[in-house]
Amino acid sequence: MKIGILTIGNELTSGRTQDTNASFLARAFSTQGWQVMLIMSVGDEDEAIKQALGYILARSDAVVVTGGLGPTADDITTEAIARAFGLGLYTDDAVLRHIREIFDKYRLSWTENNAKQAIFPEGAEVIANPVGTAAGFALKQKGKLIAVIPGVPREIGRMLPEGVLPLLRREFPEAAQHVAVRTIKSFGLSEAAVDKALADLDFERLGIRIGFYPNFPENHIVLTATGGLESETAARISAAEAGVVSRLQKYVFAYDGDTLEGLVAKMLTEKGWTLAVAESCTGGLVTDRLTDVPGSSAFLERTVVTYSNAAKTELLGVPADVLEEHGAVSEQTARLMAQGVRKLARTDLGLAITGIAGPAGGTSQKPVGTVHIALDDGKECLCRHYAFRWDRRRNKIISSQAALMMLKRYLTGEREDA
Ligand code: AMP
Ligand code: MG
Repeated sequence: MKIGILTIGNELTSGRTQDTNASFLARAFSTQGWQVMLIMSVGDEDEAIKQALGYILARSDAVVVTGGLGPTADDITTEAIARAFGLGLYTDDAVLRHIREIFDKYRLSWTENNAKQAIFPEGAEVIANPVGTAAGFALKQKGKLIAVIPGVPREIGRMLPEGVLPLLRREFPEAAQHVAVRTIKSFGLSEAAVDKALADLDFERLGIRIGFYPNFPENHIVLTATGGLESETAARISAAEAGVVSRLQKYVFAYDGDTLEGLVAKMLTEKGWTLAVAESCTGGLVTDRLTDVPGSSAFLERTVVTYSNAAKTELLGVPADVLEEHGAVSEQTARLMAQGVRKLARTDLGLAITGIAGPAGGTSQKPVGTVHIALDDGKECLCRHYAFRWDRRRNKIISSQAALMMLKRYLTGEREDA
């Protein structure tokens, strides 16, 4: 099936809002094995909406439209689409009742413009909105399907799988194939290096589409197989995955929806081990990521953000003369920070990060991006030096990734230097 995406809103054409709906929808449709022909954005303007629809429908079987279904006067998508196809408008009583119920439930005061969200083009089928007042609708015109949903990302997150995809599958049953997708997440190799490492694999022979998606600081490899039978697509995916993993080896850290922090949290919890963290250049980012995982209190005892030399000495016991002689960004300091925080918190593990995020503070010996990460378990203290080359924010992000990666490799028993 060929499909187009139209996002509507002045906030998009003025650049105030980033069009995340378009990428969300495109990804979902591609995952179904459908061909996204084009993505267009227009402002809340009658003629622009009409022309965009004409352009898209000349090139696709269906179009999914987002935005402009709100109660305010600037939301004109419904009227514009009705006019574009020469259709009248009607009020859907069930939808109107539903909106009034939401107002009652949350004790919101009713104003007449809210009734606008119950108005649809004649012949439209309503697409329910389980999390808001703006229902969507679908129209069939000359064999083509037009599905319209609100602009709020949280709402389309529900309406797409619950309303739009079932509708598209129903209207285009021949396009409803089985699609298997596997995302392989890697860290530590550039996109070009990943591409080169996989160059000898014949994905076409396996009937696999491969996509490379840099997701700083990770590189994701997405394998897609389309076909009639689930067992058959799954087998092709497994074969391709085995090829990719054998080439990328230790750089692969997770699959599909799994995150690095999620895996680390799971392993620490399973082992019943506790962790304390001392962060300098990451400013708490490692801890922010770990505490994104529900249940992180099971293993995370504390973090100290020791930004100054004084903090490293007072809180972690890093001797002033070590800081003086080797510097705050040094292997010696990183090791003493990891040991210090572990003793302070009496945990199984101590993790420490110290580095120069930039843009200032670099020297020829220690340029911006110099980072030392240490992990201490009371018997052994692993330490690694990194030379990153990004801006301040990305140096912080990649440092947090390297720290979590060190922890992950320690927990799985992989040697850090292997
Ligand atoms: P609307 O349905 O046009 O009233 O949009 C409601 C809100 O959803 C807007 O104010 C934006 O914050 C958000 N929004 C609308 N369109 C998009 C889009 N294409 N991508 C991301 N957010 C959007
Ligand atoms: Mg809008």
